[in-house]
Amino acid sequence: KGMNPPQKIPFPPEKISMSWRQKRRPGAGLYNLGSTCYLNVVLQCLTYTPPLANYLLSRQHSRFCHRQGFCMMCVMEDHVRKVLYSSASAIRPRAVIRDLRCKQFQLLQQVFFPSLRGELLTSFLVIGEFKPDLPGDAYEFLRCTLSAMHRACLSGSSDLDISSQGTTIIHQIFRGILRSRITCLGCKTFSDFYTAFLDVLLKIK
Ligand SMILES: [Zn+2]
Ligand SMILES: [Zn+2]
Repeated sequence: KGMNPPQKIPFPPEKISMSWRQKRRPGAGLYNLGSTCYLNVVLQCLTYTPPLANYLLSRQHSRFCHRQGFCMMCVMEDHVRKVLYSSASAIRPRAVIRDLRCKQFQLLQQVFFPSLRGELLTSFLVIGEFKPDLPGDAYEFLRCTLSAMHRACLSGSSDLDISSQGTTIIHQIFRGILRSRITCLGCKTFSDFYTAFLDVLLKIK
């Protein structure tokens, strides 16, 4: 209510399977490559989110992905397959971290060599201001990863209206809608505003 219905639905909700398509034993653990334990935590949470893992394992994304260069969905697809199909007790999440480092490098390049801008500006938008080498913030990494995956789902469909953009598989799984209501103290009339979010910060006391 109060939002325009989407014109197109990149990923219809009925195609999402909330429980594991196959029974499988737990996949490989992840080695800490320096100060990357917080990345590992987030990667493992995403790997064991059944609707996301089902989708990534089905390779529906990469079969139709025309993205040149970095694509967070393709990176995650490789990562989840590697973890869940590996017979090793732990693997090194090298690909994910290498790609993030590479993003970071491009970001620096953009600052110091602004003539290269066009292409690099898109890379900057892909992963935001995330800095993988700083011992850091799992929350920030999750936020950047989800929005990079969402953007990867949208590439190739630039004509989508705002509410259709909210129906990628990433938004279908992780999105919530925040309703802000302003009520007039005089006549009690209210107006509502809706904002989509992919994460909620909770206070821990
Ligand atoms: Zn891709
Ligand atoms: Zn009023």
